[in-house]
Amino acid sequence: MHVPFFDLSKEYRELNREIHGAIHDVLQSGRFILGEQGERFEQEFSSYLNTKYSVGVASGTDGLTLSLLAMGVGKGDEVITQANTFIATIVAITLTGAKPVLVDVDPNTHQIAVDQIEKAITPKTKVIIPVHLYGSPSPVHTIVPIAKKHSIQILEDACQAHGAMLKGKSVGTFGSVSVFSFYPSKNLGAYGDGGAVVTNSLSLTKKLRLLRNYGQSKKYHHDTFGVNSRLDELQAAVLRVKLKNLNKNISIRRNAVETYKQYLKKSVFPAEIKESTSVYHLFVIEHPTRDKLSEYLSQNGIDTAIHYPIPVHLQKVYSYLNYKKGDFPVSERLASRILSLPLFYGISKKQIKYVSDVINSF
Ligand SMILES: *Cc1c(COP(=O)(O)O)cnc(C)c1O
Repeated sequence: MHVPFFDLSKEYRELNREIHGAIHDVLQSGRFILGEQGERFEQEFSSYLNTKYSVGVASGTDGLTLSLLAMGVGKGDEVITQANTFIATIVAITLTGAKPVLVDVDPNTHQIAVDQIEKAITPKTKVIIPVHLYGSPSPVHTIVPIAKKHSIQILEDACQAHGAMLKGKSVGTFGSVSVFSFYPSKNLGAYGDGGAVVTNSLSLTKKLRLLRNYGQSKKYHHDTFGVNSRLDELQAAVLRVKLKNLNKNISIRRNAVETYKQYLKKSVFPAEIKESTSVYHLFVIEHPTRDKLSEYLSQNGIDTAIHYPIPVHLQKVYSYLNYKKGDFPVSERLASRILSLPLFYGISKKQIKYVSDVINSF
């Protein structure tokens, strides 16, 4: 049996009529940038999350960068985030000219180690970015009082966590601003790149709308700095169809993980924060001989992935930050132990049982 790591075909088969219809309508309208589809998607996405505003942008990375700029972050500032995240979180910080300041993660949850945040705060700290890693809520509610005490803002990197819940609220509603990615393999994925920033602040929303569109208050009136980073109409139309299917997608993933956990009797999984509901963008296990396990799975037709094999502080491109091996021991240890198992819309019980049997026999 071959089990792919990821597969979009089942969702497409189910939604294809509606998606083709939505794409056709956009083509017919002749309007491809900043039109009705984008506006409607923004409204629907913010009402799904229960935030006041949502601003469509060209990618999650752009969403993070523009959010930091809207919050006034730039050269001379510091932004705290975790050592085990996708590189985009750090790219966004460095693009603004600010310095990324890293902290380790919790060995049980793999989420940001909240007890290390306060030690990392300096007078230059402007923003803390907790990442809801794997689609599981980070304990952002415990960061809120720390941020308040030091007058620092929170930017949630919710790029993997559309619809995840914490203490009865959607993630993405705890920080000043939160960012979602619609990269095709994300739980809410476009057919290309896309992203959104959500917030309850009207003033940040206004800044973001200018930042994503050349700072134009009206055509060719450039009042402030801005770039070209818009969610296009075709992607917005596709996302409107897929948003209606997001809860189903989440429950398929949650059921699949339940099934994995029943079969995988001896495996170690990240713990979840109390009163939280993961949307399982990724399903991660830990194993002491991870590389041998993934090789064995591959020999048995099972594709896996690692999120992420090298923590940020050991990436060549960020060597100028002067971190060294041993600085974030938990992130380093996890990087050698974690393995993401196949998980996607339409994965069958048979496939999950097969993957689990192979792991158990290893
Ligand atoms: C996907 C992702 C991003 C970046 O999103 P893009 O849309 O690919 O730019 C940022 N942070 C995290 C944690 C992600 O998983």
